[in-house]
Parts: sequence; C-alpha cells; structure tokens
Amino acid sequence: MWYQELKQQEQTYVINSYGRFPIALDHGKGARLWDVEGKEYIDLASGIGVNCLGHDHPVLTKAIEDQIHKLMHASNLYTTAPMVETAKTLTTATGMAKVFFANSGAESNEGAIKLARKYSFDKYGPGRYKIITLLNSFHGRTITTLKATGQDKFHDYFFPFTEGFDYAQAGNIEDLKQKADDSCCAVMMELIQGEGGVLPQEKAYVHAVAEFCKQKDLLLIIDEVQTGIGRTGSLFCFQQYGILPDIVTMAKGLGGGLPIGAVMAAQSCCDVFTPGTHATTFGGSPTVCAAANAVLSVVNQADFLQEVQRKGEYLKEQILGFQSPEIQGVRGMGLMLGIIVEEGKHSAFVGKLLENGVLAITAGKNTVRLLPPLVITQEEMDQALAAMKAVFCQS
Ligand SMILES: *Cc1c(COP(=O)(O)O)cnc(C)c1O
Repeated sequence: MWYQELKQQEQTYVINSYGRFPIALDHGKGARLWDVEGKEYIDLASGIGVNCLGHDHPVLTKAIEDQIHKLMHASNLYTTAPMVETAKTLTTATGMAKVFFANSGAESNEGAIKLARKYSFDKYGPGRYKIITLLNSFHGRTITTLKATGQDKFHDYFFPFTEGFDYAQAGNIEDLKQKADDSCCAVMMELIQGEGGVLPQEKAYVHAVAEFCKQKDLLLIIDEVQTGIGRTGSLFCFQQYGILPDIVTMAKGLGGGLPIGAVMAAQSCCDVFTPGTHATTFGGSPTVCAAANAVLSVVNQADFLQEVQRKGEYLKEQILGFQSPEIQGVRGMGLMLGIIVEEGKHSAFVGKLLENGVLAITAGKNTVRLLPPLVITQEEMDQALAAMKAVFCQS
C-alpha cells in the first residue's frame, strides 16, 4: 500500500495522538531504512534511540527467533533463564545490585518512584515522599511520570496529577538543597536531558547532588532511559560521571527494538520491593530478555563502546566543519548529539533532512537530535553527512 492510502486509513482507524513525519517505513538493514515507496534513508534516529544495533542485526534477530520457538512468555510466576542472565549482565557491568524488569521507560521510572517512596516509608514512616526532578526534564507519559517531568506544558488536561514532585534548576545545587525539605525522599535526573534538548549536566553539579543525597539519605535515581545501553559511549552514562546512583532506570535501547525496561537498584535499596509490592505481567519475558542479552553481548564490549565514542566525535567534528551559519554548536556525548540551531527552526531542518534522505528528530526548542544506531558504519555516516551538509549549507 502506498503512503497516501496508508495515511488515509491511519486517520480513519488510529487515534490521532502523534504528529508523524510524512512517510511510512517498510524495512531496514543496518542504519538504512526504506519507505513503502522504496525511497532510501540513513537512519540517525533509531526509532528514538531504540534500534541500537540498527535494523535486521543477525545476532539480535537470531536470538529472538530462537527464543520465540522455545518459550515466548512465561509470566513472573516462574523463573526463566534469559531474565536472570540480563540481570546478571547489567549488575556485573555496573556495580549495581539487583534488577526489576518493566516494559517501557515510563514504567521503569514509575517503578523507581515507588521504590524510593517505599524505601523511605520503611525506614522513616509516612510523610517523606517528595521527589525532586530537574526543570526541562522528561520522565514519561503516565500520570505520575508526567508530573515528575519538569516542564509545565506536560502538566495539563489530566488532573489530578500525582502529588509529591518539585523541580530544581539544573546546575544549581543551592536550588536543589532548598527544595529538598524534610518531606523529600529522592532526587531523579537525566545526566543528559534528551527530550529537553540534548543538555548534559555538569560533572561538578552531579557530584554535588550525589554527595547531598548521601548526606540526607535521599535516593539518587538516574533516568538512563535514553542515555543507557552504550548510547553515550559507556554502557551507562553515569559511569562517565564517576558516581554510583541508588537507582538507574533504562528502556529504549535495551531490547534493540523490543519493549523492555528495567529498574536497577544498588545495595542500598535492592531489597525494598518484596513479593506483592510491585509487579507486571509482561516484565522480563524470555523473549525481550533474549533480545536484551543479544544487545548486551554486542554493546557491553570495551572496543564497541570506544567505537561509539569515536563515531560521535567524528560526527561532531564533521558537522562543525560544515561552518554553516545555521549551526550554533553541537553538544552531547557519544552517539547522542544535538545540533543547535535558531530557536523554532529545528523542525524545518529535520523536515529538510528527511527530504534529503536522512532521518533525524527534534529536541527542546532549538535542537536537531541525532541518535544513530550504535553500529552505524563509516560509509553510512559519510552518506548522512553529505546530505546534512547540503541541507545546512544551502542558500
Ligand atoms: C523516552 C524516555 C522516557 C519514557 O520512555 P517510554 O518508553 O516512552 O515510556 C523516560 N525518560 C527518558 C529520559 C526518556 O528519554
């Protein structure tokens, strides 16, 4: 079916909650995608940071195929080996202690919020529930994670929202200290704000937050839903900041395209959830965990992660090398990059890139966001760069 016909049927049958780009994707290979009309694209979006191994990666597709024939789903009433293996790999690689499996980023953050509140309730009794997040953050679309998101535009329509959140200015430790009163139990933050505009936090600030949390026995929750699984050039971004959080959440890249999320807890709080206190039907299914194990077998290798850093540096350098008057800067780490343009112009640039065969996405008010597959090749990068140069240097 061609795009126009598909689009018409979409408008008839699918709830209109997304502003979609005007193409319908059909299939992909590596960092290349083809739409239903046969036009080819270089994928610098990865399904919003999900397809970290690109498209049709043999290690991933084989692992999923083998597992679905063996056992697709079992529920959490039973133990399965793929789930145990994912948890073991994640904790061994990070120094964290234990893992709870969810199905998305929002759900993982919801789990982290519940864990932090129960940690505090168990230890201090009721009244200590507030979670400080950062202004301009993004933590998900459930009623609670919307409220955790530090952007007013997300706090509309769906009243009443979950209570118990306050928002501190990123980079301002005094603001955070002031807002963390006696009712506070945790601080939750992204180390690079993704949706907010690819904004990395300063190292000194993150260290100050971590130290303050220790002092006050506040749990430090790092939302690595976008930054995790090799995206920034280390398995998790927090490893480059030199901190050990109490809780790390992840999703997007973990399944390489299958829906899986996880809440990873440090020794400090890994036994807070007990049977009956938190659960999900689908979480940690053998299929999604087999996918995660395949992803981790590729990504959790020093030479692979080094390549992610090298590719990120290369893209950054080349893009700055365009010397385009439209580009005000490039920020980010590894293969999570933001090209800063004039406020409000980011969507138009992303549209032009698409017309020129490059899929990118927006972030914040002025950022063209690049989240290429971590396996992107030199040739694919150079093809994308040539198209980008044409877009940013025309006129
Ligand atoms: C995408 C994202 C989420 C939400 O994940 P979903 O899977 O869409 O629920 C939460 N936090 C961050 C940092 C994200 O980038």
